[in-house]
Amino acid sequence: SASLASVQELETRFLKACVDALGADRFVTGAVDKQPYLTDWTGEFTGDAIAIARPRRTEEVAALVKLCVEYGVQIVPQSGRTGLAGGAIPIGSGPSLVISLERMNAIRSIDSSSRTAVVEAGVILEVLHDAVLKHDLVFPLTFGAKGSCMIGGALATNAGGSNVVKYGTTRELCLGIEAVLPDGSVINGMTGLRKDNTGLDLKDLLVGAEGTLGIITAAVLKLAPRPTARATGFLALGSLDEALDTLNAIQDRTGGAVEAYEYMPQPMLDAICRAFPQTSLPLTGDVGTGILFEVASTRPSDAEMMDEGGTRLESELLAELEAQMENGAVLDAVIASSERQRDDLWRMRESVLESIQHAGPYYTFDLSLPLGRVAEFVAKMDVAAKDLGFAPLVIGHLGDGNLHYALSAAEGVDFHDLSLDAAKAAAFDLLADLHGSFSAEHGIGQSKLGLMDGMKEPAQLAAMRRIKQALDPQNLMNPGKLIPGVEARP
Ligand code: FAD
Repeated sequence: SASLASVQELETRFLKACVDALGADRFVTGAVDKQPYLTDWTGEFTGDAIAIARPRRTEEVAALVKLCVEYGVQIVPQSGRTGLAGGAIPIGSGPSLVISLERMNAIRSIDSSSRTAVVEAGVILEVLHDAVLKHDLVFPLTFGAKGSCMIGGALATNAGGSNVVKYGTTRELCLGIEAVLPDGSVINGMTGLRKDNTGLDLKDLLVGAEGTLGIITAAVLKLAPRPTARATGFLALGSLDEALDTLNAIQDRTGGAVEAYEYMPQPMLDAICRAFPQTSLPLTGDVGTGILFEVASTRPSDAEMMDEGGTRLESELLAELEAQMENGAVLDAVIASSERQRDDLWRMRESVLESIQHAGPYYTFDLSLPLGRVAEFVAKMDVAAKDLGFAPLVIGHLGDGNLHYALSAAEGVDFHDLSLDAAKAAAFDLLADLHGSFSAEHGIGQSKLGLMDGMKEPAQLAAMRRIKQALDPQNLMNPGKLIPGVEARP
């Protein structure tokens, strides 16, 4: 038809303008070569794009955004494609350009005295981990996708992970960003200042905006000193409430040294063993409320070796665990005695998502609750889910009140025969009662967009829409993600 011809003509002219501006080597245009960029880790989301742009410099990103505005082409910022909400994949039928940050992967500098790193958005998280370790520093953000996800994606989703209990989310680890706004202007917030009250914080607006308000091209990140003493272990506890009390007791005894406190109940461990039969579980028997924990300290005194063996930190930890065993909260405990055992524990933790996938079709909630209400949620939701024929597989960053609550089918039941809508209604009713959030750390993207209207306060949604419209009046920056009900201008 005539309109199809005119779309094709626009796409051709647009692509020619892009190539003229940046050079052909910055673009992936072949149908086969584009494919990897048009689907993500989940495999659930696929889309289409005129091309994949792979700029090398911030000015190139800005030039691309300006061309997209000129031609009315939608922009999809993309990093490692490990996001779990479909945010990095184009949606809808309008012409889109994927802007991949993968070639902007320089670590510009690491400053040991200010304990900061200046990095481009395409730096892979694990690459940054390794680079700062050479300076005896750590970048504490970590989770299972660390080998593929990139700093830009982590910032855009305000990723959490296992160390939030001590270091906060990505937002709290970010001192500044450089970004290209939807009109192609560049904001340079790379001073690394720890205090700067000169107006609205655009950094905090773009962090967690899932690419709907601009493209983050670089960031100044906070680093932490490398711990000199560390202990990692696994606990079997009587209940989730006791697990929380034990967390607080360990924090008090160790001066707040808990870096990770991950809820891994027995059904989750069973699922891991089914997916990875070589797994050797840290404790024998039913662990009930299992917790993988890690404590770490930079205090030299905590690293001193004690007469009875082990560091002072380990000895404090052991003393606390003994006290918790005496009062009946902790039923069993093990502490890794080698780096290898520690790695085994973390490998087990990081294989969770694949283990859930291995268990068959599933739906997963990414919830957060006030810490004191987690146990109530799990108890009530477990009953509701089992009544409906589901087998819950739950993993949680317990120290943050964050649960990844997955529903798979009970044995002998076909997942597709079950009422997922009833399970969702049960979960969301409970969340409303307990004042929780339906999206803790994975973001809204396209997969949870439909929930926003019903779950988020109307006044907050209206303010989000007004901000979006002010910064991106044509709704070209990652449309159809995160912010519901924003219509493109005619
Ligand atoms: P992408 O998937 O490429 O993009 C994610 C979103 O950010 C999209 O909306 C995209 O448009 C936008 N975006 C990407 N780059 C930019 C940029 N430069 N500027 C602006 N917007 C941009 N998440 C957690 O929080 N905690 C976990 O524990 C966790 N565990 C995971 C484990 C596994 C095995 C997997 C596969 C994922 C896990 N995730 C977790 C989710 C995911 O890894 C994070 O959301 C991650 O931060 C996404 O980074 P990415 O580079 O892959 O981003």
